[in-house]
Amino acid sequence: MSGKLIVVLLDGVGADLFALYRHRLPHLHGLAQGGTLVQRLGADANANSMPARAGMLTGVDATRHGIYANNLWNGQHFSPATAVDVRVPTLARLARSQGKTVASVGFGLVSADDCDWYLSPWWEDGCQRAKALDTPGIHPLAGSTESLTRVAANDHRLLQQAWQLLEQQHPDLLLLELNSPDYCQHVLGDDRELVAWSLELVDAQLGCLLTRLHESGLASQYNLAIVSDHGHALVETTLVIEHIIPGVNAHCDGGLLFVAYQGAAELDDIDTRLSAHGVTRLDSLPYLPTTHTDRLAVFVAPKNTSFEPASKHADSASTAKPKYISTHGMGPDHAEDERIAIFAGPGIPVQQISRADSLAVTPTLARLLGITYQPAENPHVDAVL
Ligand SMILES: [Zn+2]
Repeated sequence: MSGKLIVVLLDGVGADLFALYRHRLPHLHGLAQGGTLVQRLGADANANSMPARAGMLTGVDATRHGIYANNLWNGQHFSPATAVDVRVPTLARLARSQGKTVASVGFGLVSADDCDWYLSPWWEDGCQRAKALDTPGIHPLAGSTESLTRVAANDHRLLQQAWQLLEQQHPDLLLLELNSPDYCQHVLGDDRELVAWSLELVDAQLGCLLTRLHESGLASQYNLAIVSDHGHALVETTLVIEHIIPGVNAHCDGGLLFVAYQGAAELDDIDTRLSAHGVTRLDSLPYLPTTHTDRLAVFVAPKNTSFEPASKHADSASTAKPKYISTHGMGPDHAEDERIAIFAGPGIPVQQISRADSLAVTPTLARLLGITYQPAENPHVDAVL
């Protein structure tokens, strides 16, 4: 079963969403039918994009990999998590240290240092946007007009880049992510036909890749892992955080809120103000590394409610109509945060697994790739294959 592996992260494809529209997705349906489908892959404690990527890449939870939110507290403010913030080796690093060649095409939280070929994720700027690529398919997203088309076009460019690498370089591990379904749900999540379209779009894009793999003869060399990072839940109301706890450093992460505080008295005051809006403090769950538990607190919004910063809203009200009408990171045991995983290719058994632990992804990918994965001081989670 071990050998070369293509990992495609489909951003924002929840377990229920896939079940609902699977009949309209011939390529994903075919892969699920001819391989292993995990119908409900557990959500990470914080089911937001960066913590979920870190979980998939490391096989440990946020208390160890350190990516507890999309933005991290640096002592002065919350700033976007990047590859340097990941505290333990990623799958890319492990693969490369064991002699595998690695390509990462737009995949968040993978370091260019751990790759033979690298293209940064679309949301990152910086001096190292591409490595060892002749014509990097960078298509940055900017502005709000035609934003959905731009996301879809970005996915298309990434797929083109990925195919060139597969065809010309045959990397042992290729990591790729496609983002249209996530963005479409954030801005148009109540229009189910457009959400279905975004799924059909990535399905068709995957279909092109599968056809090329078969026609080139590469399909027999590669296993395929299609994994989503989180699901989505519709939001009716958002809490505008600066208008509830003015002057406090906070990061809005969908249904979760991360707050930096100075001492017990300030935390009590923050707790009281947020409680008035039905917000609950999460103090006993593994959200934070121990290095942060005495300075950060985590809160969860009530049902169908999210947190958004004041910069997204014109007036000074504490509650507002959300800018993202669907989001994720909805808190403990929220079924809509759960996602799917599909493993397909030579030697992968035909089976359906009704549920798997979030942290089962990494050992499964390691097994498919044929590398040794032994997480230090981690509760043991089995591969699903
Ligand atoms: Zn995401």
